[in-house]
Amino acid sequence: MNTDPASTAPAAAMTAAPGTGLTVLYRGPLASCDYDCPYCPFAKRRDSGEQLRADRAALERFTAWAAAQEGERLSVLFTPWGEGLVRSWYRRAVVELSRLPHVGRVAVQTNLSCRTDWLAGADREKAALWCTYHPGQTPYERFLGRCRELSDLGVRFSVGVVGLEAHLEEARRLRAALPSEVYLWVNAAEGHTYTDEEADLWTALDPLFPYSRHPHASAGLPCRTGESVISVDGDGTVRRCHFVRAELGNLYDGSYRRSLGPRGCPLEVCDCHIGYVHLESLPLYDVFAGGVLERIPARPVRAPAPNGLAGGAPHRRPLPLVTG
Ligand code: SF4
Ligand code: SF4
Repeated sequence: MNTDPASTAPAAAMTAAPGTGLTVLYRGPLASCDYDCPYCPFAKRRDSGEQLRADRAALERFTAWAAAQEGERLSVLFTPWGEGLVRSWYRRAVVELSRLPHVGRVAVQTNLSCRTDWLAGADREKAALWCTYHPGQTPYERFLGRCRELSDLGVRFSVGVVGLEAHLEEARRLRAALPSEVYLWVNAAEGHTYTDEEADLWTALDPLFPYSRHPHASAGLPCRTGESVISVDGDGTVRRCHFVRAELGNLYDGSYRRSLGPRGCPLEVCDCHIGYVHLESLPLYDVFAGGVLERIPARPVRAPAPNGLAGGAPHRRPLPLVTG
């Protein structure tokens, strides 16, 4: 049974997309990374020159499509299987899309191994980074230095870690060093269950960790994907999200448009933030208002009240709160 209090929250947030308009989660064929995290199921391939050229062509086709959508408010999140920002075409895509008037936000998931100076050319109100710190793959000081560069540039970013025990001390150290306005998130490690005591350690760092701790029961629940949020691959195949394989059509021939509409989730659970953040039964569009794609809360978050005031049944951990 899913005892995650977050998954049983009332349908508090029926607000619209990150901006009004269409949100696109783009994942092209790139599948290589400059890191080799032991817990990563992706990026175990070394892309050949031909594969990299195909990825670049696919991304450039996508950005050309996005640039042409002048009548629509677009938000874009790049979610590559590997690391995109070590490739010039991803950096260029972020800069170019950020400068388009009809693009409200362009964000990218990254390990932050790349330089940051290129972001000076972006519209820094609109470009944003979802950064993951991978202890063991990069020196702590180098990662922290990159975060400082982003702050100095005025770039919007969140920072996170995978909630493995071996990461706890590094995560605490990072939390203590980052400015309080930088949100540090913690993702529950895949296939890992947390005792309440373990979960409390992570919740002390990320008050929103209870949302990540358990997969969210999602079967039949309304989810904005397939309506105002879509997933697009390198061929332009449109799906509602990265996790549901059914196709809605193609981006480039416009056939996806007639498939857009409200629909319940066909899967039993949704366990990834880039998916469940769009569930209408969760309040996360309110929690992350203005920063849904880059995972930045609208207001500082604080830990749940220890007496469970914000919770439901007494055995359940209380919901995280957002300070007013
Ligand atoms: S940085 Fe990300 S994509 Fe690269 S190996 Fe680590 S988890 Fe995988
Ligand atoms: S709840 Fe998750 S798996 Fe289900 S449709 Fe939404 S994003 Fe996809």
